[in-house]
Order: sequence, then C-alpha cells, then structure tokens
Amino acid sequence: MSYRKILKELRKTFPQPVSDKIHDSYFVHSIMSALNQVDDLKTRLPFLGDIITEDFDVAKKAKLPEHISTVEEVTSELVGYLRGMTIFGHPRTQQNVIGPTTIPSLIGVLLASLHNPNLGWDEYSRMVAYAEVEVVGISSQLVGYNPEKSGGVFTFGGTATTLYGVKIGLEKACPDTIKKGTPENVVVFVSDTAHYCATNITGWLGIGTDNLITIPTTVENEIDLVLLEENIRETLKDGKKIAAIIATMGTTDAFGLDDLLQIVALRESIVEEFELDYKPHIHADAVIGWAWSVFNDYDIEENTLNFRPRTIRAIAGACRRIQHLHLADSIGIDFHKTGFTPYISSLVLVKDQADLDMLKRSPEQMPYLYHYGQYRPGMYTLETSRAGTGPLSALANLRLFGQEGLRAILGHIVEMTQLLREHLGGHASTTVLNSGNFGTVTLFRAYPLGIDTFDIKRQEFEDPAYRESLLLHNEYNREVFQYVNAEAMEGRGVFISTTDCYRKTSYGEPIVALKSYILSPFVDEDDVKMVVDKVLEAGEKVGENVNPDRTE
Ligand SMILES: *Cc1c(COP(=O)(O)O)cnc(C)c1O
Repeated sequence: MSYRKILKELRKTFPQPVSDKIHDSYFVHSIMSALNQVDDLKTRLPFLGDIITEDFDVAKKAKLPEHISTVEEVTSELVGYLRGMTIFGHPRTQQNVIGPTTIPSLIGVLLASLHNPNLGWDEYSRMVAYAEVEVVGISSQLVGYNPEKSGGVFTFGGTATTLYGVKIGLEKACPDTIKKGTPENVVVFVSDTAHYCATNITGWLGIGTDNLITIPTTVENEIDLVLLEENIRETLKDGKKIAAIIATMGTTDAFGLDDLLQIVALRESIVEEFELDYKPHIHADAVIGWAWSVFNDYDIEENTLNFRPRTIRAIAGACRRIQHLHLADSIGIDFHKTGFTPYISSLVLVKDQADLDMLKRSPEQMPYLYHYGQYRPGMYTLETSRAGTGPLSALANLRLFGQEGLRAILGHIVEMTQLLREHLGGHASTTVLNSGNFGTVTLFRAYPLGIDTFDIKRQEFEDPAYRESLLLHNEYNREVFQYVNAEAMEGRGVFISTTDCYRKTSYGEPIVALKSYILSPFVDEDDVKMVVDKVLEAGEKVGENVNPDRTE
C-alpha cells in the first residue's frame, strides 16, 4: 500500500489542526466512547470489571503490530487495561494514600495533553506556564510564605520535591557542589518514620545513604528532638556539614507531624553556637499534610461548617503543627495525594526564589533555548521537558474547591476517621495505634478474644519478654487482613491495607498493623462501621489458629 494512503488514514487519528466541526465531534465522540466503555466495567464492587492476573512474562513478548489500527480498536484495547483497577473513590476502598480524582482535574490533564505545553519555557507553554505560577502563588499564601519572595516548580512526584529541597541544601552547605561534585563529609537528617524517598535521594545525589542519619521518633511518630540535637552536635563536632534536615509533616503510615517550630529553633541556636557560615536547610515533606493549611485560620469556636467536636479536635491537633509550615525553607506538596488530582501533580515551594536560582545552569549550556520570554524555569529544573498536566489539574481543584470545599472534604474524611477510631475503641479486641495522630489514616491491631488490649499494646511495645506474643499477634493481624480483603473481593466489606512495620518495638521487632486510609469523599458512617464488623468477624474465623489461650 502506498504510504500516502496510510498517511491519509493516520491524519484522521490526530485532532485536526484547523477547525473541522465534523472531525472535532468525532474526537469528542471517541473520548466519550472510551469513558462509556470504562463505565460499563463498573459494578457495585470497589474495582472495575474482574481482577485478572496475567502472566507478566507473556507481556514481555508483546510485539509491534505490522499494520495500523483504528482509533476505535485501540480505545477498546486500552480500556481493557483498566480491568481490575481499584476504584479509589469507592466508599469501600480505604487502602492507601491514593485519592479519587475530580472531573475538572481530569479535564486539566486532558487539556494540558491536548496541545502539549512544555513548562520549561513560557515560549512553549504560554498561559499554562502562567497557571503554574498561579498555583505557586496560591500555595504560598496557603502555607504562609510571602508570594512576592517565594518560588516553586512542579516536578516528578513528592520524591522529587524532597530531592529539590536536599539539593538546594547541599549547595548551601557545600557551595559549587553542582560543579565540583558532592563532598564526602555531608549528611542529611530525617526521622525513622519518614518516607523512604530520603534514602533514594541521598543515594542518587551522591551524598550516600550511609550519610542519611535516621533519628528515632516518639510514640506520636514525631522526630525525637533530643536525639536530633545530640546527633546534630556530634555531626558538627566531627567536622561534617549538614545538607538538610527533612521535617516530615504527615508521615505516610501514621500522619505523624514533626515539630517544625522546634526544629527551626534548634537550627538557629546551632548556627550561632557553632558559628556556621551556612544555615542548614530545612525541608518540610508536607506532601500529605499541606492540605490541612486550609484550617489555619478556621474559627474553631464559631465552627461555621458544623463539624462535630471530635473532628474539630482532630483538625486542631493537626494544625498545631501545620501552621508552622512557613518556617521551612522549602516545602513539598502533592496535589495527587490530598488534593484529589491525578498523578503526577507535585509542587516544590521555596521560601526564597533565590534558592532555586542557585541551581541555574549557565545559558551557554542551553544554546537553543531561553532567548526571550518572562518565565524560564527550565534554566534550573532537573527536568528538561515538563508537562502542563500537574499545574492545570492542581489549579482546577484549587478553583473548584476553594477554601470552603477543601475544608468540607478534609473535614469529612477526618470525621469518618475519628468515627472509625471510636468504633475500634469500643471493642475489647481492637486497639488504635496512632491515636495521637490526627490525619485520615488509622493504624490498628486486632487481638484474639480474651486478650487485654489495654495492657498488651504497651507490653508488646516495651517489654522484650513479650517478643513471642508480639510476633504471634503480628501473624494474627496478617491473617485478619487476608480474611477482610478476601471478603471485600466478594463484595462483602471494605478494602483496607496493612503495614509490615508500623514502627519498631523498643527491642527492635517490627509491629504489623492493619491500616485504614480514608481519602474518598464517598466514605460514610456505614462504611467505617463495616471495617470494624469485618475485623471482628475475621477474629472469629482465624482466631482458632493463632490464639495461644485457646486449646485445640
Ligand atoms: C507519598 C510520599 C512521598 C513520595 O511521594 P510521591 O509523590 O509518591 O513521589 C514522600 N513523602 C511522603 C511523606 C509521602 O507520603
């Protein structure tokens, strides 16, 4: 076949560059058809179609087809790849910090893909670049940065937001690292319940994972300030430099919030005492916690949104730490976590734009770019091409929700979390582990009937004599998890998750926990009660095998 004939067909598969009403509606129809086919996969269950497990070795043998396909054929095939996907917005899905996405944020992704803006330079992205700057402005105000001084860029995930923070700190502590390479005497501090991305980052930046100093946390999952200070002193006495202190503002597993106020105070006093010629950079990993900023100026007494007292208490408990976000030198924000956008929508904010400018390359290194225009973040970003999808979907949701909407949606899921904890607390065989953390994630353990959950939690945490009991009940909770999820697969109950190491006991054993992460606005009272019912039911089913107190 002549290539011209093929080309003619292929031209129909692109949106038309010049207005063509008939073809334009064909495009819209194609998208609608894809969405309709996805909707056909919906049932009452919290996943699309059937969960099928394919052999991934077979996937490796996939071949490039010889001939062209039609839009319709490819669409149907692609929709097939959504089979088995969890519906994260489903009220019976409480698995992890993966949220459902709003319609405007999806449209943001579509629009930013449709005309393919590249955020490296406003010349290639025009008003989409402007949208990025707007989100930087809105977010700065939200966390309490001065938008006239602050700066920020969207990047490839929460991990990359911390990467930027540490990179900036490295450049401050050891100027010209970008040119000369990373010296050997530099460290990064982080807590032991922080995200493992800190390990990745120190590894990839050449700081070395051996130079990541992990500080133990208190039972509230906050960095232990006494130990942090001790370690900082030791580091400086050894003549080492501090690239960054990462404060986690909302840990992934438990929503622990580091005491940023005290960390900053510690930094100031250390700089003075050791007469440092740089300020150790403080990066706030607030990829989860940032959203709570909308409550910073919520009048708790007036409570115009009518939250229940326990919700108010939980909000206040979180804001007591989140309100200090503006003290950090840089902040990571994931709109794709607590902002209800699709992946990837992550923003790193810096208090002072000059911090980002430190990472600039010289124009001679990029001869074909950046000759004009007002906005040239590509001069300091790690990425070259940067999609417009993150900023447009973030802006979509910020506009959609406004302050009131974000408060309502977060308030509701906090409310549901508190309700879950109330139910869990109301049974002899279940106990909440992170009751001192006020997010929307609940870690809990189930125990066989007859075990005193008031004492056992503490005993297993602190007393090595209880090692065997701890390990036995770790196994018990794994079995409870298996049962609850098997039931959920059958449409009876709720998908929850589990963590192999919520934290370690004082004698070094991992504590297994069950985990409910509520992020869907559709979750309501029945759904949280169902979690507890199913866990109790699991206790009856699996208890026989692992309860030492019962005789066979
Ligand atoms: C999820 C998470 C990260 C990593 O973010 P990604 O967007 O998945 O790259 C980092 N820190 C914390 C606290 C997180 O919860």
